[in-house]
Amino acid sequence: MYLYAVQFYNLKGDIFMNKELRCPVIAGNWKMNKDPSETKDFIKRIIDVVNNNEGKVIVCVPFIDLPEALISAKNSKLLIGAQNCHFKKNGAFTGEVSPSMLKSMGVEYVIIGHSERRNYFNEDDKIVNKKVKAALESGLSVILCVGESLEQRELNVTSEVISSQIKRGLYEVDKSDMKRVIIAYEPIWAIGTGRTASPDAANEVCSLIRKIIGDLYDIQTSEHLIVQYGGSMNSKNAKDLLSMNNIDGGLIGSSSLDADEFLDIIAAVKS
Ligand code: PEP
Repeated sequence: MYLYAVQFYNLKGDIFMNKELRCPVIAGNWKMNKDPSETKDFIKRIIDVVNNNEGKVIVCVPFIDLPEALISAKNSKLLIGAQNCHFKKNGAFTGEVSPSMLKSMGVEYVIIGHSERRNYFNEDDKIVNKKVKAALESGLSVILCVGESLEQRELNVTSEVISSQIKRGLYEVDKSDMKRVIIAYEPIWAIGTGRTASPDAANEVCSLIRKIIGDLYDIQTSEHLIVQYGGSMNSKNAKDLLSMNNIDGGLIGSSSLDADEFLDIIAAVKS
């Protein structure tokens, strides 16, 4: 018997697909915040809720917090991620950390292509692509960030920007590896600004991302792809954003630093 996956589109071209196929993923991005002792306290605060939570929860911590995070999260459902990696396995790259080094510690996820890395560290799509491939090759899972600037949104080129970031970022990434790729839609104008995309606007781009993946790979790959929204998500707006058809989770910056706030966002997934 053959089973056909069916994509349904509404008038705006948004894809309606079976959200139940996808496990919600809430990920915190601590950026350059918290030391190991704060990491220990934070994880102690959230661990029971995470263990009883149906979806996945990841915290992406600074490199120096990884050992403490991994020890504190041992034998729990909490997943630990890094916020960056180099694309080489080893060598003369002072100050850098390779994907295989992260993997050898027990790290499972790495954020790649965050707009702060693109803007402050000149990471273009070519470097992003090298990092994505190196991370996947080392066995890590990747949270690939894409998003348009305010200027690009106002020029009405959001679709083109997102499409190009995804195609370049995933260049030569094999379909079989897409199971370990999450795409986070993070409009730059919403990151750290308190200015969140409306649920409809965020869903429209997340839906576009799913369509791009469907065109690049196939329907099954796009149906199973986790697409997160990130950009000033907090306990007040999380429920509305996370209830949208094509938003499967959140990548959360400042609101992931406070354990109570983060727990409220985790709770918003099922409410
Ligand atoms: C982020 O850094 O990925 C992010 C979404 O930040 P914030 O939630 O603070 O906007």
